[in-house]
Amino acid sequence: MKSTNTTKPMTILVDMDGVIADYSKAHLEKVAGRLPHLVPYIEDARLSWRSEERFPEEHRDAVEALALEPGFFENLEPIEGGLEAVRALMDAGHDVRICTAPKKIHTYCVPEKYNWIKKHLGQEYVERIIMTRDKTLTQGDLLIDDKPEITGAGTPQWEHIVFDRPYNKHVPQRRIDWTNYREVLGL
Ligand SMILES: [Mg+2]
Repeated sequence: MKSTNTTKPMTILVDMDGVIADYSKAHLEKVAGRLPHLVPYIEDARLSWRSEERFPEEHRDAVEALALEPGFFENLEPIEGGLEAVRALMDAGHDVRICTAPKKIHTYCVPEKYNWIKKHLGQEYVERIIMTRDKTLTQGDLLIDDKPEITGAGTPQWEHIVFDRPYNKHVPQRRIDWTNYREVLGL
C-alpha cells in the first residue's frame, strides 16, 4: 500500500504473544479440553495478562504446564491483521523487530517461536527476532506490547504502545489494535 505520509522511519518492536500470536486463545482452549473442572474460571482468565493468574492458586502450575508442552507455541494462531501490519510497516520503511520474551522453562518455547516466525513471516523476519526477558534493555522508537506494565533493569528508550486487550484497559498509554494502528500512530 502506498503511503502518503512523511513519518520518518522508526524502529518498531512488536511483541509476539497477545499481539501477533494468539497465546491466550490456545492456552484457554487447552485448559477447557484437558482440565475441564477449571472451565468456570476461563472467563476470568481472559482478564489477566498471564492467563494462569486467575485460576485458583493450587491449579496454576497445571495450567501453565499446558503452555510448556511441545507444539504449543508453534501452533498458535496468528492474531487477525497482525502479520499484514508487520509487513506493511516494513514496506513503509520502518525497521520492525519481533521482540519476544521466552518462558523460563524454554525447551520448546524458544525454537518454536523461531519456527512460528519462519512459517508465518519467513526467514527475513527470523533474523529480526529479539528474544529477551528484559525488554527495557532493547532499543527502539516504539514497543507494541499487550503487557500492562513493562519493567526491567533499564530505562526504556521506546514508547510503550499498548496493544488493546481486555486485561490492559486500565493503562493510560496510547493503545492500538490492528484495525486502527495507522491512525493512532500517525503512519
Ligand atoms: Mg505479549
